[in-house]
Amino acid sequence: MYDKKSLKAEEFISHEEILDTLKYAEENKNNVELIDKIIAKAKLKKGLEHREASVLLACEIKEKNEEIYELAREIKQEFYGNRIVLFAPLYLSNYCVNGCVYCPYHAQNRHIARKKMTQEEIKKEVIALQDMGHKRLAIETGEDPIHNPIEYVLESLKTIYSIHHKNGAIRRANVNIAATTVENYRKLKEAGIGTYILFQETYHKESYEKLHPTGPKHNYAYHTEAMDRAMEGGIDDVGLGVLFGLERYKYEFAGLLMHAEHLEAVHNVGPHTISVPRIRHADDIDPSKFDNGIDDDTFCKIVACIRVAVPYTGMICSTRESAAVRARVLNLGISQISGGSKTSVGGYAEENETEEDSSQFDVTDTRTLDEVMKWLMELGYLPSFCTACYREGRTGERFMEICKSKQIQNCCHPNALITLKEYLEDYASPETKIVGEKLIKKEFAELQESKVKEVLANNLEKIEAGERDFRF
Ligand code: SF4
Ligand code: SF4
Repeated sequence: MYDKKSLKAEEFISHEEILDTLKYAEENKNNVELIDKIIAKAKLKKGLEHREASVLLACEIKEKNEEIYELAREIKQEFYGNRIVLFAPLYLSNYCVNGCVYCPYHAQNRHIARKKMTQEEIKKEVIALQDMGHKRLAIETGEDPIHNPIEYVLESLKTIYSIHHKNGAIRRANVNIAATTVENYRKLKEAGIGTYILFQETYHKESYEKLHPTGPKHNYAYHTEAMDRAMEGGIDDVGLGVLFGLERYKYEFAGLLMHAEHLEAVHNVGPHTISVPRIRHADDIDPSKFDNGIDDDTFCKIVACIRVAVPYTGMICSTRESAAVRARVLNLGISQISGGSKTSVGGYAEENETEEDSSQFDVTDTRTLDEVMKWLMELGYLPSFCTACYREGRTGERFMEICKSKQIQNCCHPNALITLKEYLEDYASPETKIVGEKLIKKEFAELQESKVKEVLANNLEKIEAGERDFRF
């Protein structure tokens, strides 16, 4: 029985409800009257239910799809402006006891180089990341109670936050580790994590169990109910995601939105972010062995439909995607991207590099962070290293309230300019600095006269004089 308020995975992600939704979407994919009604509701910019959004995803009418894309662009602009937040993944350890068939870290892979960084090695990685200009990380580890217990993650977080190399600092560490207990989530919260991210991989229980044949991750309910435990442990910013390519994308899309509706119904706060990874080649993983791969056009349609369905939720696109695809989806709803990423353990600091490859997947966008920064600005985006909300206590329900009232924009925009200015002063190449200074000037000139503008002008001057870390 479908019940979005239930705490049981199979009730809030009801298989029958998803099948009914897919049937309803298929039957109505050319129903102009209904599609117009749904688009009209979406134009209120308060979101859509999974059934409504699924009809838009299935819609095959060219002009209506154009309207959906146009609306996605409009919502993106209204809620996120031209800002794009940057982050980098940091892999601590690739020891893993699970048997996920799409990931080269699965326990049966005996030839991949296994590595767990010491605190000293983490320090070197963080310095290398700070020297690139990063302020926000996504911490990743495999699941292994012996090699990567929660104490190791907590100690690593302490190390990461403690390092201040030159003007560098990691100001927000999001954490992507296996589903765990309420008690462990509480410890992560106390350690000052930003968002807790856990990809569902697939919402289809039967496929889930086949794709995770061994290890604790095999337990569908425990994995799917993880966000509820995280919230019970006090983590109020959680990030969802599925790995597109494992199951039919329409099924995943409906499941993802049902999960978001469940969090909102039970905890009064929907997901902070949604990630949209597609399966990629890696060590012993061949993506063509998975039947449900999606092409770039479908990928863009999914991004646009998520943007329209959950306007307040940030959307993340990693370096799994090429520069060309990233440019397309940035326009349709993506608000955060990674840059200059390494997906191996110890990949950032040359000294940490081993001869053997320990990457989780092949990076498609291999440009440096500086190249990505310049590219973003030339496309008209304002790159941001802002981490202010979490540090100002604007998380969970409080964050969503400010976000829904759009007041958040009064913080996001000046913070983007402040953090871009820091980047230009400390890390940019001369070419990127020229492009960036021009952009700051233009964006600043366009701001309405206000107290915020006055303070911002003052902060920008102070950054030029060597001070750091201002925020609204
Ligand atoms: S996806 Fe995560 S849990 Fe699965 S094998 Fe890879 S690292 Fe381990
Ligand atoms: S002000 Fe808050 S919402 Fe805006 S970019 Fe910074 S951290 Fe994100």
